[in-house]
Amino acid sequence: MTCWSDARKKYEQLDQVLTKELAVDNCHVGVQYNPVRMVSTGAKVDAKTIRRRSCFLCEMNRPADQTGMPLLGKYHFLLNPNPILPRHYTIPLRHHNRQQIQGHYEDLMKMVKKLDNLLFFYNGPLCGASAPDHMHFQAGSRGVVPLERDWKEVYRPQMSCLRKGDGGTVYQLNGYLCAGYVIIASTAEAHEALFDSVYSMLPVPEGEYEPMMNILAWADSEEELVSVVLPRAKHRPDCYHAEGDAKTLVSPGALDMGGLLITPREEDFKKMNAQLAKAIIQECGVE
Ligand SMILES: [Zn+2]
Repeated sequence: MTCWSDARKKYEQLDQVLTKELAVDNCHVGVQYNPVRMVSTGAKVDAKTIRRRSCFLCEMNRPADQTGMPLLGKYHFLLNPNPILPRHYTIPLRHHNRQQIQGHYEDLMKMVKKLDNLLFFYNGPLCGASAPDHMHFQAGSRGVVPLERDWKEVYRPQMSCLRKGDGGTVYQLNGYLCAGYVIIASTAEAHEALFDSVYSMLPVPEGEYEPMMNILAWADSEEELVSVVLPRAKHRPDCYHAEGDAKTLVSPGALDMGGLLITPREEDFKKMNAQLAKAIIQECGVE
C-alpha cells in the first residue's frame, strides 16, 4: 500500500467518510457517503460499453504498482483501489473469463477457509459487478456489514432448516429485509454440493446465463463456513434512473444487500432514511 499512493490516499480518506446507522424494522442498516465509489455506482455495464473498454482486472491493464499475491494458484489477491471497507481486496481470476459463480463457488469457500479473518463476497454480473466480463470476488474487513456483523445475535438464531445432508445444511434466512439462503458446512466441497441445490432453484432471467444473486461468505469457526445467498430481482432500483429529487444513486452489490448502503452523492446520503433503505433492498432483493 505504501507504494501505491493513489490507493493510499483513498484509504486515508475512508477514515473520514460519513456514515450513519438506521433502524429498519428489527434490522440495522448502515449508510456510507463515499464519493470514490462513483466509479462503480455510476458504471455503465451494458455489453457494448464493456466490449469497448479495456478490462481493468486483466493483469496487463492494471497499474504497475498495484501489486498482488497469488491465491489458490488461479487468482490474484489485490488491494481494491476504491475501498468501502477499511481493508478491501479484489480477487480476479488470472484469466479473462466472464463473471460466473458456477465453477467458482468452491474456490470462494476455499478462500473463506484459508483467510478466515475476512468477509468474502460475490456480485453477479447484473448485481453490482462493475467488471461483469472478468470473474472476480472481493473481500474485506469483518464486523462492518450489518448482516455479517449482527449475524450471531440477530440472524443466526432465527434461521430455519431447509435441507440437511452432504456434510452441511441449507437454511432459510429469516428476520432480514429480503429473502436469502444460508449454507453452513465445514468444507468447501460440502458447500459446493449444497450450493448447487440452491442455485438450481433460482430462475435465470431471459437472455442471461446465471440466476441473479449476491453472496456473502465468512468463517464462523473452523468447523462452520457460512455463506448467505441473496437472490436478486433487479440490477438497480427505479430511483437510480429517476430524475430530479426522486433520483437516488444507489447501485446495490453484496455489501448494500447485506445492509451497508453506499451513496457516492452527499444529497443521497442525507436523504437516506429507514423507509428508503428498506424500499431499495426489497426492490432489488426477493421477498
Ligand atoms: Zn479482464
